[in-house]
Amino acid sequence: MADSSFRADRRRVLKWLAAATAAPLVLRYGQALAGQDSPFVLGVASGDPWPDGFVIWTRLSSLPLYPGNQERLPLKVPVHWEVASDPLFRQVLRRGQTQALRLLGHAVNVEVTGLQSGRPYWYRFIAQGERSPVGRALTLPQPGQAVDSLRLAVASCANWELGYFSAYRHLAAESPDLVLFLGDYIYEYTRDPASDAVVRSYIAPEAFDLDGYRYRYALHRSDPDLQQAHAAAPWIVTWDDHEVQDDYSAYWSKEPGVSQQVFARRRAAAYQAFIENMPLRRPRRDAHGQPLLYRRFQYGDLASLPVLDGRQYRSRQPCADQSPFYGKGHVESASCADLFDPQRTMLGWEQERWLDRQLLDSDTRWNLITQNLLVGTLRIPDASTGIDRYWTDNWDGYQAARDRLLHSIERSDARNPVVLSGDYHSFWANELRRTLDAPAVASELVATSITSNGPNHDAITALRGENPHIRFFDSRERGYLSIDLTRERLQADFRVISDRRDPGATLTTLASHVIDSGSPQLIRL
Ligand code: FE
Ligand code: CA
Repeated sequence: MADSSFRADRRRVLKWLAAATAAPLVLRYGQALAGQDSPFVLGVASGDPWPDGFVIWTRLSSLPLYPGNQERLPLKVPVHWEVASDPLFRQVLRRGQTQALRLLGHAVNVEVTGLQSGRPYWYRFIAQGERSPVGRALTLPQPGQAVDSLRLAVASCANWELGYFSAYRHLAAESPDLVLFLGDYIYEYTRDPASDAVVRSYIAPEAFDLDGYRYRYALHRSDPDLQQAHAAAPWIVTWDDHEVQDDYSAYWSKEPGVSQQVFARRRAAAYQAFIENMPLRRPRRDAHGQPLLYRRFQYGDLASLPVLDGRQYRSRQPCADQSPFYGKGHVESASCADLFDPQRTMLGWEQERWLDRQLLDSDTRWNLITQNLLVGTLRIPDASTGIDRYWTDNWDGYQAARDRLLHSIERSDARNPVVLSGDYHSFWANELRRTLDAPAVASELVATSITSNGPNHDAITALRGENPHIRFFDSRERGYLSIDLTRERLQADFRVISDRRDPGATLTTLASHVIDSGSPQLIRL
């Protein structure tokens, strides 16, 4: 197909948009982008930096972004890329050419190497006579190099339908060194577009296949606030459940009656779309041909960041066959023996061993264990029996595995361990203890959602007395976590937006905590 196919497609899109009177938000969005002939409507990204390079990403596309539209684009499109030492590209240090393939959804992941360590770079792409927006990346400092500071933004849970991505816009404005994304980049299901809660619909059925998942990533990437967040800094990403299906575990769907074989096909499509659409190195495959997501980054002598995969290898939800909720996260009584079964795993045995080794070998000042799910316990005593109950989908559903994790941290003597978590759509600051009266072995900071609904604030606040290790909790706000790390201390600022339904929402800081080097104690500022 000729190069003009994107433009031809755009004309078709404008016709489609003109007919889409039932979808005013898509129309508004389409008009905002309609002046562009550029194939770069999905922006650019960088990620997974190392001392002499990083991944740069883009994905060619055209409007509309409905599932299957990619079939109309050429089989392959040549794409040039450039990396410069300055944002105006006065000094281009690396350049090259690759192909955007339909086979990969026209996504482009380039591993740029041969750069100096520990400094920023700027990158852009050129295709079909058009230039992409410019993104800022950085190379990591050399592993042993003395480094004084690191600024991180930590985000998770961006439900397209429930709000605008103002949190991403404000995150970009902070210009962090790295963005850590902890899962639920997309949501696989679709709400009733007529619901009052829906600010902008996915306008597509639930994602089950590659087209369906690709479409969701494309729609998210068409958002200017998210594009800014990707262009501002390299992202280091992991996934949680909604990149595939709510509350799934390994090859088990949350739905009874869906065989592992059938679910494996859905999972493979979802994983493929994730890998295409994230600035990840590839191919990364484990011994079973599955994508290997857990990995480690090191920022000079200041911080190690093991990044975990808490979905792909884990055991089924506890007591699934006995529960009416089957594979869905639910509140389960401590009488369910699965909760404490040492044969059950959250990370899988290989990843557990790998993490244990990473912690033992770490010689950095800080160890930021970057993963998707709440690690700290939340005891929910049954009012009538006094028996504790637990939410099953996070580490409370895998308590023996959690104890192994905490034991691993404790015996490693890794300095200043801090767990960073997502999924819970709320801010938490927790002390992590192996038992309720044991000393804290690490602290945990949980970032709230970009837009997704928080859990019941009053219900969880009422449990704080039973859970004194929870030093802060608030589920009423949407936003992200900003971390300022120095040799002496970590400062965590809980950033909140004024209103997810307002595309121009403003930013404030809900609370700040400090962790001094040498003590896991959380100090509220
Ligand atoms: Fe979520
Ligand atoms: Ca989740």
